[in-house]
Amino acid sequence: MSLALFILILFTGVDLIQLKTNADTNLIANNSVELGSDNPNNWNRVGWGTNSPTYSYSSEGADGAKSIKVELSEYTNGDARWAFDSVVVTPNQEYSFGVYYKTNTNVNIIMDTLLNDGSHQYTWHSSVGATSVWKEFKFDFVAAPNSQMINIYMPISSIGYVQTDNYSLTPKPLAPVPSGDNLIANNSFEAGNDLGWNNVSWGSNRPTYTIQSNVAADGDYSAQLIMTEYTNGDARWAFANVEVEPNTEYQFSLFYKSNVPVSINMDTTKINGSHQYTWHGNLSSVSNWTKAEFNFVTAANDSRVNIYIPINSNGIVQTDNYYLKKVTTNPPQPSGDFDRALVSIDFDDGWTSAYTKGFSVLDEFGYKGTAGITTNYVRDQSIYNGTYMTPDMVLDLNNRGHSIASHTLDHANLTTLSAGEVDRQLRESKEYLENLLGESVNYFITPYCSINSSITNIAKTYYPTGIRNCDSYYNTASNFDQYNVKSFPIFKTTTNQEIADALDTAKNNKQWLVLMYHEVNNSGNQYAVTQSKLREQMQLIKDRNLNVVTSESAINEILRQL
Ligand SMILES: [Zn+2]
Repeated sequence: MSLALFILILFTGVDLIQLKTNADTNLIANNSVELGSDNPNNWNRVGWGTNSPTYSYSSEGADGAKSIKVELSEYTNGDARWAFDSVVVTPNQEYSFGVYYKTNTNVNIIMDTLLNDGSHQYTWHSSVGATSVWKEFKFDFVAAPNSQMINIYMPISSIGYVQTDNYSLTPKPLAPVPSGDNLIANNSFEAGNDLGWNNVSWGSNRPTYTIQSNVAADGDYSAQLIMTEYTNGDARWAFANVEVEPNTEYQFSLFYKSNVPVSINMDTTKINGSHQYTWHGNLSSVSNWTKAEFNFVTAANDSRVNIYIPINSNGIVQTDNYYLKKVTTNPPQPSGDFDRALVSIDFDDGWTSAYTKGFSVLDEFGYKGTAGITTNYVRDQSIYNGTYMTPDMVLDLNNRGHSIASHTLDHANLTTLSAGEVDRQLRESKEYLENLLGESVNYFITPYCSINSSITNIAKTYYPTGIRNCDSYYNTASNFDQYNVKSFPIFKTTTNQEIADALDTAKNNKQWLVLMYHEVNNSGNQYAVTQSKLREQMQLIKDRNLNVVTSESAINEILRQL
């Protein structure tokens, strides 16, 4: 399954919309395949490619007396499946889907949406492994705005069988109206159900969502999420997106218990429909109900927010008593200003000259910088013959208090690569650095600043602190995006006056400016500055009495203010 397809199933933009309430309606005709003689009524045998499917109508069911099975004894390519008669759906309506299955191989769960223009959109929802006993797979989804009909099936595309039964597809009822100043409907699950909540997951894993009674932080009910068979992706309980006012302070809190470390994240939908993802802290595993809370101020272009605890390993997370309210006592901060101006200094690529001539100058000034390391060049010195830092140099920088970031394995242009290769570049460079340093590496510098929203979504799962790109120049309270940090590139031709002007702008407006360097030598390359130039430029910072912190420190400082 391609990574691009993974992205399709990021159903985080679930809107609070007026939904029809007909929860008891199973939209799949003959959903449990009980009706039929040689063939179940309303079910179709579908297949393509080179393989040898055997479709059978079995007299053993997860419920009732019948189920359906498709088996491949020879396989070259294509797939085979049982498919129900496609169901007409209401655009933007939220639905729950469920199926019981048994299989002796790995099977994907695919949704085929027929769009208004007659084209099909295929969405991969998960893959499940072998089970000789009936298991249920469920997920919620929102029908695309331009959708007409959908079908959901478990195609077999290898030698083996898949047997299914008791399909369900039901519209989810309208969420209750939130009460008091809490903006989250059914915030404490006291309705005894998941009205107003969505089960959101993506990737290869097996989440089980349950509303539990008698184990609540308050009241009677709480929400449990058990993750098993985890390979990648994440899963979470997500309340219906809450509309927010711009430039307004909000307070959020929830109670949780967990047997694995998790984090708390916010998805902000902008007025233009784009999403900004913000990490709001790591949560350690706790066996007692523990409160997690933070305040945030919306930006001028914020429209809706969602806040959740995704689980991305095998384990259990329980949450309850979500609270999101407007803070009325404190006026919002003026946008554009942080508490103080910040300057960060990044050296991209991991050039040896940055080690010998660059970071040594930073040390003279007492400044801590960030090295973006291209890990294959470090690991294998024969590639560029000593032009890039050795592992010991990287380790030494880290020991001296400088920060180490990943810059991929081999300076990859990520937008030109396959999804699998993108994932490898992000993952293996992180693993290399973490093995070398013995600590986590959570910051990523994008080679060529070549990135898009899909890659950003993957990269931030590996690098939760942030991603630095090349948008110009200043990071401000109104444009701040930890996963698209803006920067000011310093070239051979950049004048001290230009740098001084940029520093003054950051200082006067209390913004964050990242200076991006590469080589430090006399080569005359466009991307190289001389050591004496670098020293002059550091002096410009010092003359202005600016606060120099690593990029990661800057992000953490700013997130505390937002
Ligand atoms: Zn680079």
